[in-house]
Amino acid sequence: MKKLVFVSALLFSVLTLFLSTNFASAAPTSFARWASATQTILVSSYSSNYSAWSTGATKWKNSTNFKVSTIVGSHSSNYYAYDVYDSNVDWDGIAKTTHGNGVITKSVLNFNTYHTSKSNYTASIKAGLAGHEIGHSLGLNHVSVVEIPTNSIMYPYTFKSNGSPARALSPTSADITVVNNLYKKSIGSILSTSKEDGIYLTPSWSVYYEDEIALEKDADLVVRAKVIDYLGSHMDKNKVQPYTTKHILEIQDVIKGDIKEEKIVISQMGGSDGVTNVFGEHTTLLTVNDEIIVFLKESEDGSYRPINEDDGIYLYKDYEGEFVNIRNNEGFSSFEYKAR
Ligand SMILES: [Zn+2]
Repeated sequence: MKKLVFVSALLFSVLTLFLSTNFASAAPTSFARWASATQTILVSSYSSNYSAWSTGATKWKNSTNFKVSTIVGSHSSNYYAYDVYDSNVDWDGIAKTTHGNGVITKSVLNFNTYHTSKSNYTASIKAGLAGHEIGHSLGLNHVSVVEIPTNSIMYPYTFKSNGSPARALSPTSADITVVNNLYKKSIGSILSTSKEDGIYLTPSWSVYYEDEIALEKDADLVVRAKVIDYLGSHMDKNKVQPYTTKHILEIQDVIKGDIKEEKIVISQMGGSDGVTNVFGEHTTLLTVNDEIIVFLKESEDGSYRPINEDDGIYLYKDYEGEFVNIRNNEGFSSFEYKAR
């Protein structure tokens, strides 16, 4: 019996409490803006979630300078929303936003009905999710995962793992201030943006896992592994999540799950085809020779995905002698690992 030593569970709670206390008033940052503050989102006539998008837009329109409304239509535009169904991803909603020089030129918003058709997605949860995605589409980043969840509609998770709602369902005063600064009445000089030009995938995760024990419970497979090969980025425009990067993992130890293969393929969001750069907002791409412990779900094509992208990957750090969450300043901490 192999076992993880979850020293992190306690560490994580302490860390969360500490950081929450210090960053309680943190507001979301912005990455870009539309040239005009008046926008219309076209919602596909095939969508069964028009009222969620409409209510989500109204939340911003009524509280900020960003005057966004919705109409139903059958043609795509530069700002549109439609439903997708994908059981192979952990996100319930996503925004794909294209920007250059700080100006947003296109945003496509999706609900993933694999998640949102479940009974825990009530009308108010869905309107909150729509408001969250519209927040991305107007130029907002997520708040940190160590933020107090209800301080911002831009918290990345919909539910806690105990099933209760995680994020604010309407823009909070912190959100409103940021948006009003972004969309001042006179549109001045273009923002300087800290982000590279490209397409940004900003997912909303259905579930927040409070620690590694919760991650392990939901994982199909937990392994210690080494990244041995890069399989490249794949752009399949017909897929719901069209941009992925794949690596081969050599399994060194199986912590949970039943697997005969010694090598598996891991798939992460985003990548580059040499022309377009696509960034997963919650994704740090692996590199060859990385040694990791990874909490995985199996997808239908036989590849594996880390749960909630960065949430599920722990990278071995020599100098610390332990596995540290790949996005190590973002809430999830590190843990000791002992084989057998
Ligand atoms: Zn999001």
